Amino acid sequence: MKFYVIASSSKGNASYLEVGNHKILIDAGISYTSIKNALAKIDVKIKEITDLFITHEHNDHIKGLIVLLKHVKPNIYMSKGTQNAIKFTEPIKPLKAFDPIKLTNLKITPLPLSHDAEEPLGFLFENQTKKIAYITDTGYILSEVKELLQNCTLYFLESNHDAYLLTNSKRPYHLIRRILNEKGHLSNHDSAYYFSQMVGQDTSHLIFAHVSQECNTSQLIRQTYKEILTAQNKQFSHIEFIEALPDQPLEVIEL
Ligand SMILES: [Zn+2]
Ligand SMILES: [Zn+2]
Repeated sequence: MKFYVIASSSKGNASYLEVGNHKILIDAGISYTSIKNALAKIDVKIKEITDLFITHEHNDHIKGLIVLLKHVKPNIYMSKGTQNAIKFTEPIKPLKAFDPIKLTNLKITPLPLSHDAEEPLGFLFENQTKKIAYITDTGYILSEVKELLQNCTLYFLESNHDAYLLTNSKRPYHLIRRILNEKGHLSNHDSAYYFSQMVGQDTSHLIFAHVSQECNTSQLIRQTYKEILTAQNKQFSHIEFIEALPDQPLEVIEL
């Protein structure tokens, strides 16, 4: 498996996963050209994309979708709620939470999230030996989802804000409430706590996703994780912690 984070923040989200012949794009929340250029850096032509998964209808996850589909004809997967919310008219393969699909040897389980969107989904991608958890834009993680996500190889996990910085930011009060509520985004503390309940011996990578530029810092994320994992008696020295960036792809991770 090859996993490549192209961009992640409230400005735009897109990731790429390659497994066998399947070249999968997850979200198209940045421009077609930015996605194309990011893929070119790893010698993938955008026309080779076979499958497109959309998490939910917010602009930072679909901004580039319409232009992308003028150039590329992948199979498109999203929930019916997302399809309705974006009034999407092209054919899709509808996804339902906890109802897995298979692409050759890759099993994909859609996971329900809690977010101010119609039917947002996270994903578990797994083959015979590796598991990738893709969880962003959620106020909490259900215990059934946590069960499924035990001991993944890689977690792409939202660590959106530091609650103190957010509460004391200059943002309007209704926006602060929106982010903090159960249909908002995971704080560093939530993220670290959920991670501590899922991490295992096989976990090699954690990518902090959807990091707020105004209400978070790399140092706060890492410090919060360290404190919580230590308090929970969890081993984490074997794990590489990486922060996703808003405007720059990360290195490809080969699993
Ligand atoms: Zn988002
Ligand atoms: Zn969202």
